[in-house]
Amino acid sequence: MKGVSTEQLREWDKRHVWHPFTQMQDWEKDQPIVIARGEGSWLIDTDGNRYLDGVASMWTNVHGHCRRELNEALKQQVDRLEHATMLGLAGEQSILLAHRLAGITPTGLDRFFYSDNGSTAMEVAVKMAFQYQVHRGRPERKRFITFRHAYHGDTLGAVSVGGIDIYHSTFRPLLFDAIQAPAPYCYRCEMGCNDPATCGMTCAGALEALMKQHGATCAGLVIEPLLQGAGGMLVQPPGFLKRVRELCDLHGLLMITDEVATGFGRTGRMFACEHEGVVPDIMALSKGIAAGYLPLAVTVTTEEVYAAFMGEYAELKTFFHGHTFSGNPLACAVALKSLELFEQDRLLDALQPKIARLAERLQEFARLPHVGDVRQCGLAAGIELVEDAPTKRPYPWEQKVGVRVCLEARKHGIFSRPLGNTIVVFPPLAIKPDELDLLLDGLERAIRTVTAD
Ligand SMILES: *Cc1c(COP(=O)(O)O)cnc(C)c1O
Repeated sequence: MKGVSTEQLREWDKRHVWHPFTQMQDWEKDQPIVIARGEGSWLIDTDGNRYLDGVASMWTNVHGHCRRELNEALKQQVDRLEHATMLGLAGEQSILLAHRLAGITPTGLDRFFYSDNGSTAMEVAVKMAFQYQVHRGRPERKRFITFRHAYHGDTLGAVSVGGIDIYHSTFRPLLFDAIQAPAPYCYRCEMGCNDPATCGMTCAGALEALMKQHGATCAGLVIEPLLQGAGGMLVQPPGFLKRVRELCDLHGLLMITDEVATGFGRTGRMFACEHEGVVPDIMALSKGIAAGYLPLAVTVTTEEVYAAFMGEYAELKTFFHGHTFSGNPLACAVALKSLELFEQDRLLDALQPKIARLAERLQEFARLPHVGDVRQCGLAAGIELVEDAPTKRPYPWEQKVGVRVCLEARKHGIFSRPLGNTIVVFPPLAIKPDELDLLLDGLERAIRTVTAD
């Protein structure tokens, strides 16, 4: 809006806006950056200052901000149709997108249930898996196996299968209880291992034991494949996902993969499960699906799961779930164009040298005295800061070291947001190689400054 000063906007923000995952008492004391424009990997505030978007706007952005072709696709679609319901009507754009996605999702995943964010995509997955078991005559299969440090969204069903205590413990009385398996968090292994190369995946052994004990009462298992994002960018050892698939098969659980963060290229392939040749029974996609432009999500499943819901109207086998803005045509049109750009720009190929460069630079970070661990999966990384590296002693929570590093990085034109004391690297996939170096330079300087003894 022209004519409103930054100062005025800040004041109204503090008076009216309640920010997600934010202690508003701190926020009200700060001078928030007010973003007005975007350009490629950059966000530009109302005063014209530029910030490199180091977290791809909450892990959604793929081709950069305000990419001309995506803007055009959106403009064209808005002149045709802004929205029409999918309850009772089919939509041109949602059909085209489902057809297109069927060509790239793992073989066998050909049924697409639309919604509009990652949490709902996971709610759908959980409800679908349970109702599937009911229709198959196994209503006793009503529990879910999940992992410590898992994050699947913030609605109550998604929180129930989540495992991040600081976010989730308050809501415990409202949740259904899930069976929590140890996370493959090698740096702080709960099983007491310290080398994924030689431990034989003790954590997978623990999962196997849980499956033996509880498997027969479980509808499904929920996992973020390869990378637990919000839990701290925890990277699973090779072979883990494949082993999870085997265990699900052995014990009759549907395997639900949450690719909300990993889907659409983040890991270096279109979908994370491709790295291990795993095909889940249900897969949730959101964040990058519409390139960071608009809210859109889809829960993908197999013909077998879909078929279990077929029946006479009166049998009430219908999947009674839906969202007002399911399959929004604007979002679908942008998603279709985004998939075109993946090919046109050979984005996955272009990603490989950037992934390699990130790996190189992370080795340098690893040598900093207060870096305990560096973890990378494709173009995503976590740099875990610790007070004492030899003993892995964490910084006290109240020191807000992660937050302070990100505030410091702003002085170097970097916007980032930490996960506790883990610094996150998660730029738009289309980030230019020199911008990636700029991002890492800024983060490195900020880490050095804040952790200097
Ligand atoms: C962000 C995220 C979600 C939740 O998505 P929202 O759109 O924020 O509801 C779910 N699962 C994973 C793995 C995520 O990273």
